[in-house]
Amino acid sequence: MNARRELGIAEAVLRAVERRAAGRLVRRARVRVGALLHISGPALKQAFIAVSDGTVADGARLDVVVEPARLGCRSCGRTTMSDRMLATCPACEGNRLDLHSGDGLVLESVEFTEAERRVGHEPSS
Ligand SMILES: [Zn+2]
Repeated sequence: MNARRELGIAEAVLRAVERRAAGRLVRRARVRVGALLHISGPALKQAFIAVSDGTVADGARLDVVVEPARLGCRSCGRTTMSDRMLATCPACEGNRLDLHSGDGLVLESVEFTEAERRVGHEPSS
C-alpha cells in the first residue's frame, strides 16, 4: 500500500472541498473514486484527516465510494463493469474496449455546519 498516493488524492479532495465551502465549515464530504485508481478507502480517510487539520474541513468526515470501471466494447456495444482494466470483452472477446469511467475522482457532495454556527455556541476552538 502506497500511502503517499492517498495523501496526494486527499490534498486534491481538500482543495475541491475548500473551493465549494467558500469559507463555510464542513461537516461531511463524499467522494466517488474510480476503482482503477486503486485507492484504499480507509487510507484516504486517514490522509484526509491529516491534510484537513486547521482548514474549514477540520474534523469533517469523508465518505469514500469506490466505483467500478465501465468499459464499452466497440465490437458488440456492451458495457462491462470491472474493478480492473480488461484486455478483452467478456461477452464477445473483442479487444477494442473503451474506458468510459473508472479512473476519475468526483466530489459528490459537501455538508456544512451552518446551523450550529448560527446558534452561536460552538463547543470549542
Ligand atoms: Zn464485446
